[in-house]
Amino acid sequence: MATKKNISCSFCGRPRAEVKILISGMDNAHICENCVENASEIITQELELNNKLKKSSLKLTIQKPVEIKKFLDQYVIGQDDAKKILSVAVYNHYKRILHKSTEDTDEVEIEKSNIIMVGETGTGKTLLAKTIARLLNVPFAIADATVFTEAGYVGEDVESMLTRLLQACDYDEQAAERGIVFVDEIDKIARKNDNPSITRDVSGEGVQQGLLKMLEGTDVLVPPQGGRKHPEQKMIKMNTRNILFVCGGAFDGIEKIIARRINTNAIGFGVNKEQQEQQKKNLLQFVNPTDLKSYGLIPELLGRLPVVTHLDPLDRNVLRRIITEPKNSLIKQYTKLFEMEGIKLTVEDEALDFMVEKALEFKLGARGLRSIVEYTLNDAMFDLPGTDTKDFHVTYDYARQQFEKSKLGMLGAA
Ligand code: ADP
Repeated sequence: MATKKNISCSFCGRPRAEVKILISGMDNAHICENCVENASEIITQELELNNKLKKSSLKLTIQKPVEIKKFLDQYVIGQDDAKKILSVAVYNHYKRILHKSTEDTDEVEIEKSNIIMVGETGTGKTLLAKTIARLLNVPFAIADATVFTEAGYVGEDVESMLTRLLQACDYDEQAAERGIVFVDEIDKIARKNDNPSITRDVSGEGVQQGLLKMLEGTDVLVPPQGGRKHPEQKMIKMNTRNILFVCGGAFDGIEKIIARRINTNAIGFGVNKEQQEQQKKNLLQFVNPTDLKSYGLIPELLGRLPVVTHLDPLDRNVLRRIITEPKNSLIKQYTKLFEMEGIKLTVEDEALDFMVEKALEFKLGARGLRSIVEYTLNDAMFDLPGTDTKDFHVTYDYARQQFEKSKLGMLGAA
């Protein structure tokens, strides 16, 4: 046992005689002034490093709404209303996060601006949400509301969407806690009795209830590998306060509900006959929370999705622009693929018009355009690599001939 004379620093081992101060702790342990100083330095450095890391992972690229919209314009054609509304909602959401993180003590609490987008399938709902996540450089996950069931039933718990978010950023919890979750097919969990559609989930209302807390902001225990919660699985605790939820759905048949409401309540129709006709064509633009409630979303859920917007159906003009205009348009992508083989791809305008025509004719929408372009170029992509060809020009006749040869074309011809 150490006597008063032979005691030494338990950290550096210096004996009592070589140090000025020796502080004693439990179990006969001691620490000298040099080691205290060193330890203090280490602590300062570590804390600084941690702070730096924290700050860097919290650094958000927030752009002004006008800039957000400009960015969206590069990838998404049309949908101006949705873009504007989304730009403001996203801007406010991240302003709210920054406001919180500066720990301002003024009492005005800015509420979350979760979003609901109503629009036919394939009109760009997912694309919009994805593009925003790309702009903000935050983790992004897509969840499908149809797989959710009430806790205890076969299916996925609503927490699984947070697992996806965590996986999207390599389990960086801080980043995940300010990510964006796109909940697709939210219309499929509409309540049974009010819903005119026959495709909804039977347990819809229970799932809607399950979503409430998460949309609002709460601590959630998330199974890191997904799947059902097992008591033995280590859970990650996540707070959803700063996660932006963007929900999307086609809400088949909602036009009837909107029409009924508008007819009994003439708002928006105080315009001339021609404008009236135009407006009637796209009733979705008048969608509001009352319609979504009539469709079968519970008021509590709607209260947590305060921003409602719509997407326009894609007409010929928009489809035509989608083929060539977006930053990563189909034609730009295929041009790149050909370029990698040393081949310059050019496509005649009439050939592009033809492809759009077929997408409309077969009701394939923007998603179908990809298959049509693929059908058109597949033979060339098969035959040309390894040959001396330097240019490949797609004419109307070629596009037509390729399409007619395709399975889809054969079906159409039958
Ligand atoms: P939704 O989520 O509404 O069902 P998506 O966003 O998944 O539709 O769209 C499917 C695909 O169609 C997108 O990946 C994109 O290539 C194309 N697309 C749809 N709408 C647009 C649009 N407005 N602008 C550009 N591309 C679009």
